[in-house]
Amino acid sequence: MLPPDFTPCFSTALPAGEPLCFAIIGDQHLVTPETGLPALAALVPLGSPEVDVLIGHLGTTPCRLIAWPDGTAAPEGLAIEGLRALYGRLGDDAFWISARARQLLSWLRDHRHCGRCGTATTVAEHEAAAICPACAHRMYPRVSPAMMVLIRRGRELLLARSPHFKPGMYSALAGFVEPGETLEACVHRETMEEVGVTITNLRWFASQSWPFPHSLMLAFHADYVAGDIVPQEGEIEDAGWFDIDALPELPGPASIARRLLDDALAELRG
Ligand SMILES: [Zn+2]
Repeated sequence: MLPPDFTPCFSTALPAGEPLCFAIIGDQHLVTPETGLPALAALVPLGSPEVDVLIGHLGTTPCRLIAWPDGTAAPEGLAIEGLRALYGRLGDDAFWISARARQLLSWLRDHRHCGRCGTATTVAEHEAAAICPACAHRMYPRVSPAMMVLIRRGRELLLARSPHFKPGMYSALAGFVEPGETLEACVHRETMEEVGVTITNLRWFASQSWPFPHSLMLAFHADYVAGDIVPQEGEIEDAGWFDIDALPELPGPASIARRLLDDALAELRG
C-alpha cells in the first residue's frame, strides 16, 4: 500500500528541489543498478519528457511522474524493468508510489482526446482531470473495483486457475463489479458464474490497489453452502477443493490473493 506519510496530489506545476523520480519509458520503470529510484540529473540525457507531473509528497519530498514514449533508449547507468518484477526489490514505499505513477500515466495516455467530441484534451493544473476545451467534458483517472473471495469448506479451500495464470498456479476467485451492482452481490454472482456454488457468511478482509492496469481489489472470506464445482468455460481452466496441507502453487507475495490465503491458513491451522 502507499506509505502512511505519502500524501497524494496531482499538479502540472513542478516544485523546486530534488524530487523522488518515478521515471517510466513506455510501461517500463527506470531504476539504478542497485534497484533504487534515479536522480533527476540522471534523466537529463533522455531529453524532453512526454509527461512530467507532481503526483504527491512522501513526507515533504515531492514525488514526480516523469515518462517517455516506448522505444526511448534508457540512459547509461540506468536499467528498465517491469513493475511486477520490481516488487520486493524496489522497497515497499517506492513500489506502491510507482504503482500510483503507472496508473496515472495510463490514464493520461488514454485520455489525450475527448471521448465525447474527439477534441484534444488539456490536463488541469492542480487536479487529476483531463478537460476537453471544446465541450468541457472532464475525464478522471479510472479505478475499477473487483472482488476477490476465498471460499472455505472445513479444512479445504476452493481455488481456481484462469487460463492466463502461469502453469500450476491457483488462486482465490476474482471478478469485476458490474455497473449498478453491490460488492456483496458481485461476490455471490461471480462465484456462481465461475464455479457454480453458493456461499454465505461473507467476511471483509482488506483491499489493495492493483495497477495492472487500474483495479481496486476488495477481498472477502466466505463459507461454502452447496453445489458441485462447475468451472466457467473460457474463464476458469480448472477449479477444485484443496486441503490446507496439500495446496498447489499460490500467487506471489505482492498480491492480496496471497495475503488472503495466508490469513485463512493461519486461522485454519490455529
Ligand atoms: Zn469534448
